[in-house]
Amino acid sequence: MRLLIANGYMIDPSQGINTGKNLLIEDGRVAGLLDRSDETPEGAQVLDATGLVVAPGFIDMHVHLREPGQEYKETIETGAAAAVAGGWASVCAMPNTDPINDSPAVTRFIIEQAERARLANVFPIGSITKGSKGAELSEMGEMKAAGIIAVSDDGRPVPTAGMMRRAMEYARGFGLTVVDHCEDKTLATGGSMHEGRWSLLLGLRGMPAAAEEMDAVRDCALAELTGAHVHLAHVSTRGAIEAVRRAKASGLNVTCEVAPHHFALSDEVVEGYDTNTKMNPPLRSREHVEAVLEGLGDGTIDAIATDHAPHHADEKALEYDQAPFGITGLETAIGLALDRLVHEGTISLEHLVELCAVNPARIFNLVDRGTLRKGAWADVTIIDPEMTWTFDVTRSKSKSRNTPFNGLTLRGAAVATVVAGRIVYRHEEFGRVRTEKQSAVALK
Ligand SMILES: [Zn+2]
Ligand SMILES: [Zn+2]
Repeated sequence: MRLLIANGYMIDPSQGINTGKNLLIEDGRVAGLLDRSDETPEGAQVLDATGLVVAPGFIDMHVHLREPGQEYKETIETGAAAAVAGGWASVCAMPNTDPINDSPAVTRFIIEQAERARLANVFPIGSITKGSKGAELSEMGEMKAAGIIAVSDDGRPVPTAGMMRRAMEYARGFGLTVVDHCEDKTLATGGSMHEGRWSLLLGLRGMPAAAEEMDAVRDCALAELTGAHVHLAHVSTRGAIEAVRRAKASGLNVTCEVAPHHFALSDEVVEGYDTNTKMNPPLRSREHVEAVLEGLGDGTIDAIATDHAPHHADEKALEYDQAPFGITGLETAIGLALDRLVHEGTISLEHLVELCAVNPARIFNLVDRGTLRKGAWADVTIIDPEMTWTFDVTRSKSKSRNTPFNGLTLRGAAVATVVAGRIVYRHEEFGRVRTEKQSAVALK
């Protein structure tokens, strides 16, 4: 099995590559980088990427696939289909399923379902505590042997500093990164949006920025105490980002990610009481969105991760304060990042590839991912930075429809996804777009 991705513009920051190159894939691995003028190797299928950017397969560090237990919201198969349609070759599955992924049996089940689907790579994240109840540590070693790549109690914070300290020491022994959902429940419980001017105006109970910042500061201090690798999930406030900035400056092993809705939206959109604007952490005020953009620009934020959280329409059809937290995000993330970050000049295309591929692979120690080095897994994301498109949720591959981005027009999209050398997604206009580009070039 040979595949040549030809005539594309390759951006691979892991090797400092930013130039026109052809990518040769054999038996699921990168066989080599060829010059565009080189002959097509014998028997190779050719995917013409003229006018497109070819990057290492993107890795979403934070998704909720809902299987096992809530298959009416999403399954591993539908989630993986939405992932590849959004340009993600890999997703990391949070453990808050039913049952919680706190045992090797659940870990193995997730891996088997993903293998059956043959779409995106699915890397399970195990829980920090049994049942994510915050009382007793999970069997991290056994789960690691079964295939988990990190630990998290995402959806809930680890309630006490003492428990988090023990978790970090234990995880460190297994070389597992601790993914941290920062939320001081004593401040945030009962809130359904960011606490500020808009929560006051709308009469909704707020969740203060301080709730996120308390745990961010606590766990950066514990990273120093334990030497563990701590990764803050979905940072959304100035204080949390500042805590990471300070931790990095003192040489601690602390990293963080941001979700697209936290750079694309702010809390005034809650005004219409659309429950698809309700997530945790909540959409923040503009000053915090500014801090997110600064953190992306200066490298404090390491990754973009969707926090894809599907819910059934009936569940979201409740009153704002009663509806569950979370929105889907796999199919809109790359378009939002290109439109709002790259085209606005906050980050370069090269930095986007670092945020979506190179850094996630490093943070979760995913060997031979996030790179197009010879011998690496042939996971590839192909981007059209200029394609203008409109997101239509009725055509989503996800089982759920809870997105605030339906009908939004964006400039830039992922147009093909390759996993272990197999083309698992190609945009329906892949060929047409390319032809138009070629004619545009020919006209010049
Ligand atoms: Zn979370
Ligand atoms: Zn989450």
